[in-house]
Amino acid sequence: MIINTHSINSLKKEELQRHIISLGEEKFRAKQLWKWLYVKGAKSFSEMTDIGKNLRLKLSDNNNIQRLKTSQHQVSVDGTQKWVFELFDGNKIETVFIPEEERGTLCISSQVGCTLNCSFCHTGTMALVRNLTSDEIIGQLLVVKDYLDDWDYKKNNRKITNIVFMGMGEPLYNYNEVLKSLYILMDNEGLSYSKRKITLSTSGVVPVLEKLKLEVDVSLAISLHAVKDELRNQLVPINRKWPIEKLLNALTNFPGVNNSRRITFEYVMLEGVNDTMEDAKRLSEILKPLHAKVNLIPFNPWPGSKYKCSSIDVINDFATVVCKDGGITATVRQPRGQDILAACGQLKSSSIKIKEKIN
Ligand code: SAH
Ligand code: SF4
Repeated sequence: MIINTHSINSLKKEELQRHIISLGEEKFRAKQLWKWLYVKGAKSFSEMTDIGKNLRLKLSDNNNIQRLKTSQHQVSVDGTQKWVFELFDGNKIETVFIPEEERGTLCISSQVGCTLNCSFCHTGTMALVRNLTSDEIIGQLLVVKDYLDDWDYKKNNRKITNIVFMGMGEPLYNYNEVLKSLYILMDNEGLSYSKRKITLSTSGVVPVLEKLKLEVDVSLAISLHAVKDELRNQLVPINRKWPIEKLLNALTNFPGVNNSRRITFEYVMLEGVNDTMEDAKRLSEILKPLHAKVNLIPFNPWPGSKYKCSSIDVINDFATVVCKDGGITATVRQPRGQDILAACGQLKSSSIKIKEKIN
């Protein structure tokens, strides 16, 4: 098996086991190595003191434990932290940590940019797009765990309790690498995140949702944003391919979804566009047959965006109608990290600023 020297973190546990066996070593060594990588957060093979020197040398000949390069780290007045990571090819991605009283959420990117041009999203305006590899996806978590001193979680309460794929990119357009990273995140001898603590947010790539549901039942968030196809076609253009009815049909009887574990429907609040009480009623009607909850996201502006956020009164009234008419829980997402452009849909801006500074 040929392994790229950068990619020890790109291996699923079974792959690591096969690799260790191919080096003429016993399988249990893979378990030790896995623990060093994902429980203790080792940054070099030399730290792995219970692994024989010979194997450590063999490992470092072929592999590398490389952390993503941090090109910028900012802390918001509200405690939110944002990292810009520079990838080996110079591309940049962003990762955001949102601390709350009861939990800490890491918002990770799955692509550089995004091919889908949702009209209210800054990431969608990026020209450069490529898929991240699973080690670049997992790598975001590893660096932030280093920063937060969040290793050895069995001894300490961990700081990053939840992972959301809500950074840059459409995770279902990078299915294979995202799936691989989910297996690494969920492995209970390593990073050990339960499927309930991982949320995949998608604009609704129906055929890939169908594939995902046969594979793994992490929590789902669907970027709905409109209740009629005509408007959703404009806001979330992928709707032209997979319209609302098809999307909702694909979500019926989704594995692992029930009354206590609902699908989240994200709905960005755009003044005068999708925020009437009629929209709220229709939203509660179309979601009634599903185990759904609604998360209203106040629109986060970015330079050049053509929308305005609905007023807080309208957002609250909208939430009340959704709850009252549909019996569906509707929460309003608190914008976090706006001062460092770390809120939903703002990712990209600082990368551009950095590029401008360099050029
Ligand atoms: N591509 C995926 C995940 C990343 S976007 C998706 O679309 O679901 C994460 C969430 O932020 C999505 O619900 C997205 O619609 C929302 N979002 C994008 N731009 C936004 C903005 N400017 N203000 C508020 N939310 C935004
Ligand atoms: Fe891509 Fe999601 Fe932004 Fe749409 S909202 S452009 S799918 S990142």
